[in-house]
Amino acid sequence: MGGGIAGLACAAALGHRGWDVSVWERDHAHRPEGTALGMWPAAQRALERLGVVDELRRVAVRQGSFVLRSSTGRVLGGTDAERMERRAGLPTVLVARPTLLATLNAAVPEGIVRFGAEIDDPSALLADCDLLVGADGIRGVVRPAFFGDRTEVRYAGGVAWRGVAPIEVEGHGEIWGRRSLFGLTGISPGRTNWYATIRGPEDAPPPPDDLAHVRQFFGDWPDPVPQLLAAMDGETILRNRLYELRPPLRSFVAGRVALVGDAAHAMPPNLGQGACQALVDAVTLADSVGDGSDVPAGLRAYDRARRRPAQRVAAGAHLLSRVAQADRLATPRNALARLLLPRPR
Ligand SMILES: Cc1cc2nc3c(=O)[nH]c(=O)nc-3n(C[C@H](O)[C@H](O)[C@H](O)COP(=O)(O)OP(=O)(O)OC[C@H]3O[C@@H](n4cnc5c(N)ncnc54)[C@H](O)[C@@H]3O)c2cc1C
Repeated sequence: MGGGIAGLACAAALGHRGWDVSVWERDHAHRPEGTALGMWPAAQRALERLGVVDELRRVAVRQGSFVLRSSTGRVLGGTDAERMERRAGLPTVLVARPTLLATLNAAVPEGIVRFGAEIDDPSALLADCDLLVGADGIRGVVRPAFFGDRTEVRYAGGVAWRGVAPIEVEGHGEIWGRRSLFGLTGISPGRTNWYATIRGPEDAPPPPDDLAHVRQFFGDWPDPVPQLLAAMDGETILRNRLYELRPPLRSFVAGRVALVGDAAHAMPPNLGQGACQALVDAVTLADSVGDGSDVPAGLRAYDRARRRPAQRVAAGAHLLSRVAQADRLATPRNALARLLLPRPR
């Protein structure tokens, strides 16, 4: 259930194993808007298993070295993309979300995804199938229906704005300020993907004009932030309040039901890992249940293989979100970052 990144990847992976799959998706079509998603090496290996990695690599851009700066422009640390690539055997790449969704959709045989099909009662679906996969995101209905209410959707403390500016700038990386951060990455030639988060209370009303709000907040941040925001002229800006699932689930599996993606482990976006983990969940689930001859044993294997690793990543993202948006501790945080982080290359 759910035709996002996790649901489509599951449908493709289970389909390859010979399962007769149906996907119920509430939206009438995939949303055309979306910014860049970082695809880490493990996610690319999952995409390779789904047979779509070459197509995506043709349009993806490489994530170069990443520089972390303070809002006064001081370099705090950074990554060496070549070294990371040597270690992982693959570069991290960036791909636009709509491209990833379209590519995954094309990997699923036609007619399998039923758009405009909102499910209110997943128990009714379970009665008709051998395996129900909850790929319905953080606010889905499968988790509350089968996994109790111990794990809840919790506010992660801030709001994110994202956009793609129609100019290419140098200096990809992140800038950390008090209660806020600004990040920029590649997405395609001639364009720059950016994201910004500001900590604040959950009930703060949305600003009447997102672009004006972001320009005002980040207007005196180091270059190229003002230049990038000045270049935004009519392009879409996305705003999301950030949420996560906490405490972590005790199992990703209940009877013949499995959770994947954000439905299982929604996390703050600071590590750029939510979609990557969803792709790994999908191929692992299909490997675990195989041809379906022993679904309960396959689901136990899926839970063993995925729960702890995905929850470790989610815990890291939770911690990083706190550190990156520190308020009073921003000055000692920056000093510590300069001490501990490698110099950018
Ligand atoms: C600001 C931001 C930046 C991010 N950057 C990155 C990044 O760089 N790299 C990365 O890997 N991840 C990133 N992520 C995380 C990533 O977007 C998510 O982890 C990923 O989209 C989760 O996919 P999903 O399919 O599990 O859930 P979703 O994308 O939420 O999909 C769930 C689907 O289920 C459908 N659905 C829900 N309820 C029902 C219902 N009752 N009936 C039928 N259909 C239903 C929904 O319509 C939706 O299509 C970012 C997230 C944010 C907010």
